[in-house]
Amino acid sequence: MTGGYSIISFTITENLNNGKMKINTMDKKVFLGLGSNSGKKIENIDKACLLLGNFFKVESKSSYYQTEPIGMTEQDSFINMVLSGTTDQEPFLLLKSLKKLEVEMGRKETYRWGPRMIDLDILFYSSMNFSDKILTLPHPEVLNRRFVLEPLFEIAGNLQIGEKKSLFYYLNHTLEQACEKIS
Ligand code: AMP
Repeated sequence: MTGGYSIISFTITENLNNGKMKINTMDKKVFLGLGSNSGKKIENIDKACLLLGNFFKVESKSSYYQTEPIGMTEQDSFINMVLSGTTDQEPFLLLKSLKKLEVEMGRKETYRWGPRMIDLDILFYSSMNFSDKILTLPHPEVLNRRFVLEPLFEIAGNLQIGEKKSLFYYLNHTLEQACEKIS
């Protein structure tokens, strides 16, 4: 499926109690968002891409995008990118692997919207719609952030989200946010 995000079915074989779910992960398209705004940002992102290969098979990679911080604006600009691919890990395990990787790479907890050497988010996990204290799918900020929508549009322009609206529709509502493709 190039660029398309036709809804792929998934099967929940166990309910979501205790944050545990078992799903058939075969052929599930997953989109990840990566960001860094401290240290050697592009190197941080490249390193994360390499290391997440241990549990995630990358199929498409966007360019890097330079974006201005949102919320706490007194900090350095971000480099962001988006990946798509597949994984054997169900969503909670994938989140755990990503958060573990952030710590292994040296991420220190700061404050909400504070500087971070690496930030790894699950943007979409197939067509899954789910929310609890730990995990929300799709990621709650996907539709509001140009730094996510621009790279998504680059690698999956036909993606339909929400009420069957195109990415372009949402992107058009975020154009006032500074976000520049750098390579
Ligand atoms: P962050 O500041 O991006 O590192 O994320 C803070 C918290 O957001 C994480 O510890 C997760 O529990 C939670 N979270 C909820 N939904 C998601 C998601 N789709 N991807 C990544 N983190 C998520």
